[in-house]
Amino acid sequence: MNIGGLQKVSLIDYPGKISAIIFTQGCNFRCPYCHNPELVDPKLYKPCLFPKDILDFLDHRRGKLDAVTITGGEPTLQDDLIPFIQKIRKMGFAVKLDSNGSHPDVLARLLKEKLLDFVALDIKAPQDKYRQTVKVPVDAAVIAESVRIVLKSKIPQEFRTTVVKSMLTAKDILAIAKEIVGAKRYALQRFQPAQTLDPEFAGENSCPENELLKLKKQLEKIVPLVVIR
Ligand code: SF4
Repeated sequence: MNIGGLQKVSLIDYPGKISAIIFTQGCNFRCPYCHNPELVDPKLYKPCLFPKDILDFLDHRRGKLDAVTITGGEPTLQDDLIPFIQKIRKMGFAVKLDSNGSHPDVLARLLKEKLLDFVALDIKAPQDKYRQTVKVPVDAAVIAESVRIVLKSKIPQEFRTTVVKSMLTAKDILAIAKEIVGAKRYALQRFQPAQTLDPEFAGENSCPENELLKLKKQLEKIVPLVVIR
């Protein structure tokens, strides 16, 4: 596991649970608005944390934390993700995985082996705009397969999209909602301009609040629970 960071406690990341957050290093997408460039651009990588130290930390937090979120970067790129999660679950923690959906095979295996308690799947754009949004060649059918696998799993789940005004229109977001029909929870994430993978995006605007609220109302006709954060 290449682990680029650890947040020792979060009250908000895992709905209803107190969790630690493990940040894996490395991502196969290059979303220009990404607010974790040090986990994506190899030139910005910091020395990795040792998985054993993370596991020792978690061992000492039994009874104090409910859960562990594994996020990135893109966690499904890590070769030893499955044994790492097995160890965390053996300690009694629930596990939430955040993924960009680029490796449906890994998601399918994790779900088949019942190693996940919650999945959050990033949907970056409607299928026809995927490549221009994530800035690398990507087969949108692969993302659609991840959506299908997560929906079928029936475990607690969330689909989510970062709303950057210059990249996604309201029509795009509604198109995404139609591509995830059956989802119970969809999060619209405000763009965080403080730190971005592409420095030019630091000056970008998030979607204005009134537009987000209007969008939420339209989306609620397709997905029962829509949150803005
Ligand atoms: S926002 Fe994009 S580039 Fe950044 S970690 Fe997520 S998928 Fe990777």
